[in-house]
Formats: sequence, structure tokens, C-alpha cells
Amino acid sequence: MRKKIVAGNWKMNKTRNEAIALVNGIVEGVSKLKISENVQVILAPPFPFLESVFQLSKNSSRISVAAQNCHSEEKGAYTGEVAASMLESIGVSHVILGHSERRAYFNEDNNFLAKKVKAVLKNNLKPIFCCGEILAEREKGNHFNIVKTQLEEGLFVLNSEEIQNTIIAYEPVWAIGTGVTASSEQAQEMHAFIRGLIKEKYGDNIAGNYTILYGGSCNAKNARELFANTDVDGGLIGGASLIANDFITIVDSF
Ligand code: PEP
Repeated sequence: MRKKIVAGNWKMNKTRNEAIALVNGIVEGVSKLKISENVQVILAPPFPFLESVFQLSKNSSRISVAAQNCHSEEKGAYTGEVAASMLESIGVSHVILGHSERRAYFNEDNNFLAKKVKAVLKNNLKPIFCCGEILAEREKGNHFNIVKTQLEEGLFVLNSEEIQNTIIAYEPVWAIGTGVTASSEQAQEMHAFIRGLIKEKYGDNIAGNYTILYGGSCNAKNARELFANTDVDGGLIGGASLIANDFITIVDSF
């Protein structure tokens, strides 16, 4: 059965005490929800808080911890970088890769991301691979091509076994942090397109069971409508994941 996921990307926010208060609030809130066994919650705090967030949430079978990035190499002289093996060793289970902010501010391209995807899988972690077009690309009607290229070059380098340990997050860049959400129709249309690409490359069964998240100004008010779409299996949430009550409401939106 297709997994439903709500992942919170805290980005570069929260001090230690604030991060602890947030994870405690989320753990408590999630424990009170009556949600299907099939719903999973992923928290992606900044690097310094990963281990604390893991320790504070590890008794909740619902909650997993993700890093927001990692390097493609195993170890070595890469000052300031973090290896996938380090993340695995402190309880992290997922890594967000290819977020539009990494693509835009750190020049991460699809080929580099493909190497990161491989490194993450090699260390038994699951990539949450982000894709999405900028506004000018959508206005030109080029959004499907952009997403297709991002996936083909960055993610579809994997074989059938590997791809099943990955998650895609469709995040139209024009919707991230802007308060402008993709309409239900726009989200469903792109998610169906992505599922079609997976089907073409990996077959019906893998495509049918594959989790595709929507990200971009998803919040406590609009999550239910977005998640009701056939091919939207949950969300990657930025701003609204920083407030425990809002995040919990989103988790309760299936
Ligand atoms: C994100 O950065 O992944 C994101 C979806 O942000 P926001 O929800 O704030 O638009």
C-alpha cells in the first residue's frame, strides 16, 4: 500500500531549546491523533539538532528523522560537509536532496544530485528527492519538461530495487515560502505526470506504490484539499512545520 507522508523541513530555523520544544510538541500531538497506520511523519531539523530530535522522537513509531542535505563522498577533506554514513550513525533515516534552495544558492545540479542519491542509498538512508519548476518555466509551458529532466538525470539513474527506497517531492519553486500554493488541479496534474514517468521507467507496480509529496506553501488550511488528490501522497512542509499545532493539523489531513 502506498505510504502517506508528512515531512517537516525546518530549514535554517530554531535554536536548540526551540527545536526541543518543537519536537516535544509534535511527538505529543502525533500521539493523540487517530490516523491510519499508513501515515508517517518525518522531521528534518538543522544538522546540530538531528541527534536530539531523533532521541526525543524515537519512541514514536510514526516519526522518522531526515537531514536536509549531505555530501556525495564517503569521507575526507570536504570542510564543512556531512557524510551520509555520519547521519546513519545517529539515527537519521531520510535525506532531503535537490531542494530548490540548494539548487539555487549552492549550484547543485542534477548530476551532482545523482551522486548524492547514490551515497544516501549506499548508507541505507532514503532520499526525498525534490523537483519543480520556477515561475518563468511554468509560464512558458515548460514545467513538465523541467521536472522530467530533473528526475531523469537526478533520480532515474537508479535501478528498480533502489528506486523503491526513494520519495519524490514535487515543489514548484514559485510556491515555496511565497504563500502561493499550487491549485489542487496543478498539483494533481504534475503528480500524475510524475507517476506516469515512474511507470514508463519502472513499471506499473512500482509506480502504483510510489509516494509523491507536494511542497510549496502547504499549510493547516489547504493540506486536506491537496492531499485529497489521487496522486498526492502527502506533503513536504516548510514554514508550517515550525509551529507544532499547524504541523499536527497537516498530519491529520488525510
Ligand atoms: C519547502 O521549503 O520545502 C517548502 C515547501 O516550504 P514552504 O512550505 O514554506 O513553502
